[in-house]
Amino acid sequence: MTTLTYKSWPFKEAQKLRKRFQESPNIPVRFETGFGPSGMPHIGTFAEVARTTWVRHAFEFLTQWPTQLIAFSDDMDGLRKVPLNMPQQEMLAENLGKPLCQVPDPFGECESYSAYMNNKLKEFLDSYKFDYTFQSSYEAYTRGDLNDGLAIILKKIEDVNAIILPTMSEEKRANWSPFFPICEKCGRIYSTRVTAYNTENNTIEYICNREEGIVKSCGHRGTTSIFNGKVKVGWKIDWALRWYSYDIEYEMYGKDLIESAKLSGKIVRLMGKKPPTGLSYELFLDEEGRKISKSVGKGLTIDSWISYAPLESLLYYIFQNPKQAKRLFWGIVPKSVDDYLTGLNNYEILDSEKQPDSTIWYLFNKGVNVPYYRSSINFSLINNLISAVGADDIDLILEYLKRYDSSMEKFATIVEDLVNKAMNYYRDFILPNKKYRTPNEKEREMLKRLRYELAKYEGNNEDEIQSIPFTVARIFNESPKNFFKMFYEVVFGQERGPRFGTFVQLMGKDKALSLLDTVSSI
Ligand SMILES: [Zn+2]
Repeated sequence: MTTLTYKSWPFKEAQKLRKRFQESPNIPVRFETGFGPSGMPHIGTFAEVARTTWVRHAFEFLTQWPTQLIAFSDDMDGLRKVPLNMPQQEMLAENLGKPLCQVPDPFGECESYSAYMNNKLKEFLDSYKFDYTFQSSYEAYTRGDLNDGLAIILKKIEDVNAIILPTMSEEKRANWSPFFPICEKCGRIYSTRVTAYNTENNTIEYICNREEGIVKSCGHRGTTSIFNGKVKVGWKIDWALRWYSYDIEYEMYGKDLIESAKLSGKIVRLMGKKPPTGLSYELFLDEEGRKISKSVGKGLTIDSWISYAPLESLLYYIFQNPKQAKRLFWGIVPKSVDDYLTGLNNYEILDSEKQPDSTIWYLFNKGVNVPYYRSSINFSLINNLISAVGADDIDLILEYLKRYDSSMEKFATIVEDLVNKAMNYYRDFILPNKKYRTPNEKEREMLKRLRYELAKYEGNNEDEIQSIPFTVARIFNESPKNFFKMFYEVVFGQERGPRFGTFVQLMGKDKALSLLDTVSSI
């Protein structure tokens, strides 16, 4: 075990996890993430898998032990309501209350509703090259993986009830059971009610007459084995059952599940094992600070993010303090990209033993394939350049950038990708908000003077160029703040823009002078 103490949060998690073991275990240390296949995988799913992967990598680095990440899909969960964004609404309504793995696929592509969603999840995780083992709940139940745990829950039914019932409302307690038998006649899971437990032969008796919401029932009475997928347990118990059956050592969850995790923890202790180590992370918020709802899922998707910015910039953003609520909206794109590029710049000069504490180390598979990037070219700079010269000519933009940073060849592919994405961002988010204004008489004079002073200057020092607008503002008895605001509104059609010195160097003096000619004669 390495002696250095790393401070990044995945290492802290990894150290917590390491304390669970006296010695090296003889099976891979198991991490889990859960997925509810009632809807499509989304940015929350992505963030959870990414964060768990980072802890896993820190843990592997610390211990050199093998690990495994199980991506568990709860496809035995029942369909509770008809999702409004799905086709075949009537068909879905007819199947309410059935396990998702028994509901037909409304898209007609897979053998079931959840098979469709599971495929989407796998495609999604594969496209970002996550390493995981997929496990369907339906297969786990039917294969008998969970049988031993189910038998314990049945044997300890009174104790399970004693843990769960006090957390429920009075009227719900009467009919509650941890077991949800699937009705042998109608196939529904939320229409059944357990009427007797037979611990001696691991069966339960039930009646299909539960009236809840719009789920139909058929009146069937039956007795069924609790094994091999005939019965599912309610989800907090289910969570504990998974931890128990697969020896899960680590799992993180959203802040909204803290109470559930406590209950599941009590259940798994009752069953005779320890709950996994974990972290509760803060949820994502929208632009106004409201919780992003899964079912709405509006706006920001990963597919759209990568059309505007590199995926790594999203990961960089997600990586920062998981205990802090983060807003996800388009306004965060430029800063996230620039933070990521700053991270890349700094990584190169870090001592190699300190690199594992850098976000960049996590983003590129434990620092294995970190791209070289040493430049002050960033997303804001490119956006400003596009603002100044227009968004339709990538070669022109690249030419400017090459002149600005002569070492660009060394990381040309990164810059080209950034320019392409920045052009999309500019077109969709910046251009529609631009408002160029016409300068008044005094402002025109100031711009002319700026042109004159710039033309007179013979050097090429960024700070010296930057001082020119300050001089001009002083001559006209104008505050630098007002001067720059005017300059950006007239030249860029926006309130803020690049440093004047950077801008002139980027454009070249001649081009900057002719631009000033144009705007001072409007
Ligand atoms: Zn039934």
